Amino acid sequence: NEASDENLVKLLKLTHGYDSFRDGQLEAIKMVLSGKSTMLVLPTGAGKSLCYQLPALVLPGITLVVSPLVALMIDQLKHLPPAIPGGLLCSSQTPEEASETLELLQNHALKVLFVSPERLLNTEFTSIFSGSSLLSLVVIDEAHCVSEWSHNFRPSYMRLRASMLHAKLDAKCILAMTATATSKTLHDVMHALEIPAGNLIHAAKMRENLQLSLSMTGRSLYNARMKDLMTLLKSSPFVEIKSIIIYCKFQSETDIISKYLCDNNISAKSYHSSVPAKDRSRIQELFCLNKIRVVVATVAFGMGLDKRDIGAVIHYSLPESLEEYVQEIGRAGRDGRFSYCHLLFDEATYFKMRSLMHSEGVDEYAVNKFLSQVFSNGTNSSGEICSLIKESASRKFDIKEEVMLTILTQLELGEVQYLNLLPQIKVTCTLNFHQ
Ligand code: ADP
Ligand code: MG
Repeated sequence: NEASDENLVKLLKLTHGYDSFRDGQLEAIKMVLSGKSTMLVLPTGAGKSLCYQLPALVLPGITLVVSPLVALMIDQLKHLPPAIPGGLLCSSQTPEEASETLELLQNHALKVLFVSPERLLNTEFTSIFSGSSLLSLVVIDEAHCVSEWSHNFRPSYMRLRASMLHAKLDAKCILAMTATATSKTLHDVMHALEIPAGNLIHAAKMRENLQLSLSMTGRSLYNARMKDLMTLLKSSPFVEIKSIIIYCKFQSETDIISKYLCDNNISAKSYHSSVPAKDRSRIQELFCLNKIRVVVATVAFGMGLDKRDIGAVIHYSLPESLEEYVQEIGRAGRDGRFSYCHLLFDEATYFKMRSLMHSEGVDEYAVNKFLSQVFSNGTNSSGEICSLIKESASRKFDIKEEVMLTILTQLELGEVQYLNLLPQIKVTCTLNFHQ
């Protein structure tokens, strides 16, 4: 068998220069090479493109990649390794450019072709494939767009159905790829593309034991926030937790808080890059031996920390990015026990976030796209979200809190591309907004 693991690793080295596959890649490639339609769920940046690039090279015919945005197509085309000839068709091309690409296609000079979902509704285009065996594989990138949960994102994606792909393109095998891991969306996509339940490759690890929560103090005064932290630490479940990390933005905060905790009979140490190296390793050691209950730290703490029974991670300040947040809360509950992650959210940040929402720095389109995937009514504008947040300041609310948390964290940075990271962590979230 030519597609042995060993040969695929050799091919990977030859085409991409990489030494090994990442989680889920080899599995996905082998499924596709054996002609099985596959649903691939990997977090953003995990390397989904590779999972069609290698099959495109190995399979006899062409690989058609359906992509929702021209910018994505251009980017993916640019990143094809030289060994894999590719092209794209989009509405902004001149007729000459398009016919040049079509000619290459019909002369078997392309291995990968990027197209928009609308292109599949064009019978002149699809007639090239029907009845021919030109096509080996159809890839649906950002496949969550097929689900009704994202209907205001791209209507023509919703028309993608296995029956249509088989009839119009003679598609033999479908590879659907996404980073969105909500089971409802996956179910929709797999149903529409007729991918059997057994053909799901999901390399993102669920952390079902993490409970995320957030509270908004409505007070940004230093000692007021400190009191909120104390209240939190004195109440259930935190009061019983033996091992806690509190993350702060500033070194000075960590020193003040750890002193305050010690004054209140909670064993704590501050940890940041200005603490001498030997003291830092001592603190880490004592924390690991459960001789210190709380480490109050900046981002400097946690890398290479191997402590499995951290019961809580508290954020005294908003993390810099969602990635950082996911990484930091991911340190809780590695022993698999139910663990708590709380974010203290101050008023100043809250208002800053609200103004950011209206500023041009935020990609409203992308925010809406994300929201429409998660909210059942599907049409929340970020303006509506704003008023939801405003309302929530005065009452408890029960909308998808994990999304709120994602957005709150995300908008602080004005970035949207990591929104997909959060579904990796299954959250049972409680939000307590109080004035
Ligand atoms: P995704 O589509 O899942 O967000 P990409 O396919 O764009 O991710 O890949 C992200 C990055 O990871 C790319 O720079 C890619 O070259 C790199 N990459 C993918 N697979 C591997 C691998 N096996 N080894 C090293 N780097 C890889
Ligand atoms: Mg991608």
